Amino acid sequence: MAEDTFYLSEDDRRAWRSRLAEASRNNVLCHCRQCDREWVASGPEACTCGSRQIEWLNCWQFPDG
Ligand SMILES: [Zn+2]
Repeated sequence: MAEDTFYLSEDDRRAWRSRLAEASRNNVLCHCRQCDREWVASGPEACTCGSRQIEWLNCWQFPDG
């Protein structure tokens, strides 16, 4: 799969940021590269689809802009 990076529209970025704000109140924002599911977890965990290709984003690691 070649889509290893996010290509977000402005609206997507806004939605993404609000999710990050939510995530910051918990711990990490998880994104499954397999099924594109997003969820907030307190630590590393596999996706419910069984994939372990998960991206972990801590809010303080997310680049500005
Ligand atoms: Zn998944």
